[in-house]
Amino acid sequence: MNKDLEGTRNLITELINGNNSSGVSVKIAPTFVNLMAAKELVAGSDIEVMAQNMHFADNGAFTGEIAAGMLKAIGVEEFILGHSERRSLFGETDELLKKKVRAALDNGMKVMFCFGELLEERKAANHFKVVHEQLAAVLFDLDEDEWQHIILAYEPVWAIGTGETASPEQAQEMHAYIRKSIAEAYTDSLADTVSILYGGSVKPGNAEELFGQPDVDGGLIGGASLVASDFLAIIEACSATR
Ligand code: PEP
Repeated sequence: MNKDLEGTRNLITELINGNNSSGVSVKIAPTFVNLMAAKELVAGSDIEVMAQNMHFADNGAFTGEIAAGMLKAIGVEEFILGHSERRSLFGETDELLKKKVRAALDNGMKVMFCFGELLEERKAANHFKVVHEQLAAVLFDLDEDEWQHIILAYEPVWAIGTGETASPEQAQEMHAYIRKSIAEAYTDSLADTVSILYGGSVKPGNAEELFGQPDVDGGLIGGASLVASDFLAIIEACSATR
């Protein structure tokens, strides 16, 4: 819930003008009310627009909610689902997220699925188990071919908006574990091809080292994406590791 209409327009304009990086897919996820303006501005550029959430129903008496088809109608075809704030502040459960993923795929949309452990879960050495359970509960009964519409975003909750980043080694260790879990549930080829982003206090100063890890395919950027020069520097860092 950052940036009003003018702020969104300014940020996108700066991104379009400043992005010279190659080999990096850049997506932005403004708040719902600014999606149409964002779509208009990115037309003709390589930048894509995503939504931050959606409801699982096609339509109906769900005051305040937005359906997948409504977003598709304005050209938005990808959603972030399962962000830790949606889980902790708005009570989104694995069961609900499963319905949302189903609705997104049935509507021909793509999903950027977020998950990650709490600090106490990591301290108790439960982080691999928690991550496995989050993935299995929502995604592991999808058909293998449906995974082409899924991007994963590992976001340890203790690193989101805190300034505390997972070390490159911690990120790599978890991403390798996620790939292994997918290989066990499906196939090696799916595990090798699925994109796994890291999110949690990625900044210009730590991006290249994080993205340079073999199993880290990119990032989900929160606070640093609100400042165009920082976001552009992160995109450049990603490009340098491709
Ligand atoms: C986020 O909000 O998902 C996030 C990763 O934020 P930040 O980059 O600020 O930690």
